[in-house]
Amino acid sequence: MSSNVYFLSLRAKDENHSVMRRLKRLTKILLEDRIERGDLTAIKIHFGEPGNHAFIRPVFVRQAVEAVRELGGKPFLTDANTLYKGGRANAVDHLESAIYNGFGYSSVGAPIMIADGINGDYFKEIEVNLKNFKKVKIAGGVYDADFLLVLSHFKLHIEAGFGGAMKNVGMGAAPRSGKQMQHAQFKPDPRPELCTGCARCVNHCPQGALKIVNKKSALTPELCIGCGECAVVCPTSAIEISWNESTIGLQEKIVESAYGIIKTKEPKVAFINFITDVSPDCDCSGWHDTSIVPDIGILGSHDIVAIDQASVDLVNQSIGLKESALSKSFNPGEDKLRDIHPHIDWSVQLSYGEELGLGFREYTLKKI
Ligand code: SF4
Ligand code: SF4
Repeated sequence: MSSNVYFLSLRAKDENHSVMRRLKRLTKILLEDRIERGDLTAIKIHFGEPGNHAFIRPVFVRQAVEAVRELGGKPFLTDANTLYKGGRANAVDHLESAIYNGFGYSSVGAPIMIADGINGDYFKEIEVNLKNFKKVKIAGGVYDADFLLVLSHFKLHIEAGFGGAMKNVGMGAAPRSGKQMQHAQFKPDPRPELCTGCARCVNHCPQGALKIVNKKSALTPELCIGCGECAVVCPTSAIEISWNESTIGLQEKIVESAYGIIKTKEPKVAFINFITDVSPDCDCSGWHDTSIVPDIGILGSHDIVAIDQASVDLVNQSIGLKESALSKSFNPGEDKLRDIHPHIDWSVQLSYGEELGLGFREYTLKKI
């Protein structure tokens, strides 16, 4: 079995074939047989941490908003609060960060609502009865929506290998407590010799488990919940994750969470992946390292497994950029994800997603 994945090239020869117009067309192709007049449509995106600039541009998001409106839906932009203490840990900071990064009504044409409420405690539980979780948590604003349109910036990720549609739904649409449930296996492994004492990890730790002692970051293990955010934000790799089975468990938990969320929405769900600015780290970082491959295009599908598989394949089939974080694997066909995150078998989220019946790793790429 295979699924259709639509491919939108970034080449544009005239106004009629502009990326903007074709993106709106792609959104309509995905929605037109599924959306009903008046459907409250959650457009799930990542607004980007302040300082990052790899997130999906507001002008692209506007095309999706206009497509939803023209099909009779009522769009709103949404994301759930983060576990770590960055610029998006509560709804007020989150909205400020979204506006800082250019997401206002005047630019995107739709209201923004933070899906799990002011403090991240508005959610619903859904029974899934799977290997890791009996129940998963879904941010209330996503649960309440009639339709879920997921716009994902495809990039690499320190804990899951890559972040695409699966992670945007499974982790991104979970409330703070749901994110914590998924992260609980990680153990930070401080490397004092690499620590500059910048305190970025201290400021991001949701538990107060880190402090600066003698100009170095120091961990209080009994306070740590294993969220891994300190390793994500450390600019010098002075906090490593203890790699064991945890990345497999995390990926499985992301998939189980996505399973619960998607099952509440089907068939009113669609996915669009932007394979642009493919950074070695996620958009939760307050910076963006240069892309590891040239910009590739935009994908659309109803199948969350197929769209992420196609995104990985297109990145790995591309040339790698030498002035990037890649150490080797510059040739088409080489695994760029493994080069950046050698400890992570990124395929787990795809194979487990297929095993749970969320979609197929086989796909047919259709150019539009
Ligand atoms: S973020 Fe990294 S370099 Fe900065 S204090 Fe923490 S461990 Fe040290
Ligand atoms: S010390 Fe523990 S709780 Fe704090 S950010 Fe790191 S992994 Fe998360």
